[in-house]
Amino acid sequence: MKQIKNKTLLASTLIEGKGLPVFNPFDNSLLATVPMSCQAKVEQDIIEMELGQKQWQKRSAAERCKLLKKWHQLIIENEDDLAMIITLEGGKPLKEALAEVRYGASFIEWFAEEGRRAYGNTIPSPSNDKTLLTVKQPIGVAAAITPWNFPFAMITRKAAPALAAGCSFICKPSELTPLSAFAVTELAFQAGIPKNVLRMVIGQSAHEVGEAFTYHPSVRKFSFTGSTLVGRKLQMQCASTIKRTSMELGGNAPFIVFDDADIDSAVKGAIASKFRNAGQTCVCSNRFYVQDGVYDEFVTKLVAAVDQLKVGNGLDAETDIGPVITQESKQRIVELIEEAKGRGAKQVNREQCLDGQFVAPTVLVDVEHDRPLVQGEIFGPVLPIIRFSEEEKMIEMANDTIYGLAAYFYSQNMNRIWRVAHNLEYGMVGINEGIISTEVAPFGGVKQSGNGREGAKEGLEEYLETKYVCIGGLD
Ligand code: ADP
Repeated sequence: MKQIKNKTLLASTLIEGKGLPVFNPFDNSLLATVPMSCQAKVEQDIIEMELGQKQWQKRSAAERCKLLKKWHQLIIENEDDLAMIITLEGGKPLKEALAEVRYGASFIEWFAEEGRRAYGNTIPSPSNDKTLLTVKQPIGVAAAITPWNFPFAMITRKAAPALAAGCSFICKPSELTPLSAFAVTELAFQAGIPKNVLRMVIGQSAHEVGEAFTYHPSVRKFSFTGSTLVGRKLQMQCASTIKRTSMELGGNAPFIVFDDADIDSAVKGAIASKFRNAGQTCVCSNRFYVQDGVYDEFVTKLVAAVDQLKVGNGLDAETDIGPVITQESKQRIVELIEEAKGRGAKQVNREQCLDGQFVAPTVLVDVEHDRPLVQGEIFGPVLPIIRFSEEEKMIEMANDTIYGLAAYFYSQNMNRIWRVAHNLEYGMVGINEGIISTEVAPFGGVKQSGNGREGAKEGLEEYLETKYVCIGGLD
């Protein structure tokens, strides 16, 4: 970790002796050893966060705003170090890591301001002797579990609205990428946010921390980003204490290119939405549907662009695709490719056989709609293409999935744009655009991609209760 200039960022994570080892996916070298908490300590943490929350909610919205803005400023001042940490532990190319830091920081700035606009309502009363109104109050202790693919931004996207609303926030980051989480928390403390208001924990097992967070009655809100499989289980656990939940789960994003699309723009969007973080994001386009009339042109231009992509160490400035997160992940992606090829799919771009944890970008045509590659989340740099003729059948195929997170399509026809946007059963639709996430818009899915929204004004609501107050007996 000698590349990190601000040594305070990792001070709390670098311990001697027993702890969780964190490895660099580029070469599997040991980066750091992080302290782990036992179950009893996590439960103790929750009690401390409850006390912290009671004090935090007494601070004015303006005061919380000031502290969050200071946190934002410190992140921007340390953005190069933070990006380096993300790349070292996650493998993401440095330019993408820097974009993640800025994106993650933008949520803190946005919610610092939104917290000052947590307005209630006055309600026209049905009788003159009563006044009716609503007030917004923080929900209480918020707990979260976050994944490794955005080890920085998935934390700020949840922590910022929680803190702005007056909640305290305790989080278990992914065991694969805890360093970014501890670094951003260290900056929050340096900004003046109390240690019993924001806390990261790594347990002896994810399962144990998950149980503490979901069963403990003092946790009133639970937010999760990860797989549908784990999210489903955690949501069931939350039912035992009727917690409010936000679930950002898996996706299976279709990317549709219609005959009336601008093909150069579609190719650009396809590259951006497919290969970001080596294809390891829940909103990455997963399956491509291209209409007959533009099929050959799209595939030819796409392959030319894909073959320009450089695979390598995320620290090298020219790298477009870094390593995938684990060896098991590589194995799983390679098996998906082989399975599809075994059923007639053909690779149309340059084949490369790469050692280590690298998966070469792979474009496959003649893929069948029912293959696992198309039906499940690939989470890798693999781009399966299916040809289609009719819009109506296309929409059926796009909606034929348990997921409903993001969908993308390219068309220049205004009627079609409205019609298709309306008919896609997804929480987010990108039209003539491959990258759509921003702090000012609500991010989230429908169906088994989850519930709740992050970012935008909706993101703050997730951490607020609406209290109805009725003042009666008025003259
Ligand atoms: P991914 O495929 O992104 O790793 P997971 O859902 O497996 O998706 O992991 C997302 C987060 O959920 C990680 O922080 C991981 O440690 C955590 N996690 C995985 N299994 C459990 C579990 N049984 N209970 C609580 N947390 C879990």
